Amino acid sequence: AAKKNGRNCYSWFENGMETELRSRNSLEGDIRAAIPNDEFVPYFEQQIDLVTGDLMGFEMLARWVSPVRGLIPPDDFIPIAEETGMIGDLSMSIIRKAMVEAKNWDPKLTISVNISPVQLKDPWLAQKIVKLLVETGFPASRLEVEITESSLFKNLSLAQSIVGSLKNQGIRIALDDFGTGYSSLAHLRALPFDRIKIDRSFVSSMFDNAESAAIVSAIAGLGASLDVPITAEGIENDNILSRLRALGCSKGQGWYFGQPMNIDQVRNLLSQKDLLPARRRQAEVTST
Ligand code: C2E
Ligand code: MG
Ligand code: MG
Ligand code: MG
Repeated sequence: AAKKNGRNCYSWFENGMETELRSRNSLEGDIRAAIPNDEFVPYFEQQIDLVTGDLMGFEMLARWVSPVRGLIPPDDFIPIAEETGMIGDLSMSIIRKAMVEAKNWDPKLTISVNISPVQLKDPWLAQKIVKLLVETGFPASRLEVEITESSLFKNLSLAQSIVGSLKNQGIRIALDDFGTGYSSLAHLRALPFDRIKIDRSFVSSMFDNAESAAIVSAIAGLGASLDVPITAEGIENDNILSRLRALGCSKGQGWYFGQPMNIDQVRNLLSQKDLLPARRRQAEVTST
């Protein structure tokens, strides 16, 4: 009986692995097919000047709009695209769509795009991004590239040369998700970042968790001493917003200002005549 049980267990385990492998393979196949099918699209999250309340631009966030699987968030397909070598083409095709769209907006509005650590191993990355700018006519001065610290470990000198080329073109560079992972203050010196983004995990919990609050103030202080402006992500309410303003964070984003939007929703937002940010709108409501 023990032997039979054992065998059953073994074959159950094997079947489980097989099922997982099969669903992964089918996901990989679906991703491959979805690229030429135009199922990967840019979503946009508002980035707000925390001092004036003005809309500064948007962070572009990738979404998979699958007729079969529904709306898929990036965490479900970016890792597979990275492991299978599809991330470069996938990313460039979504960024291209974002540039084509954003070119028609108010020329003050910027877009920030996320670049995977895998892409930062490509010596041609800077050239590819510049090629997109030339082809779409989107100005370099309106583009910010977000990279995470984990990108910098494998090959710092390549990352430095890519970042150098991008900056020479007038593209700005932000250090994304600062405070998570292998944060090292040395990285802040190794690369000429134009901006540091505080990860949403600290920001959204700053009133529930003393450590989060301490980390947010420490990063804000660091930004002030190094003279690098800070963007806070994950602003979910008014209390967080006020605290971040007091700490001197210059820019912010989060569900308090709005969820990521598709192209139609952005067009709709931008076409509203009295396009006023939430903070100012609220101030007006309370003063009348
Ligand atoms: P990220 O760069 O840190 O992007 C911010 C994420 O926080 C987004 O999730 C956004 O929807 C979410 N978020 C924004 N405000 C709030 C808030 O107030 N509360 C909460 N709880 N969450 C908020 P999303 O779109 O699921 O993206 C997750 C991550 O996927 C991004 O993190 C980014 O690292 C990656 N990603 C997204 N698009 C791309 C892409 O095109 N290429 C690459 N390489 N990575 C991407
Ligand atoms: Mg980002
Ligand atoms: Mg981030
Ligand atoms: Mg983050």
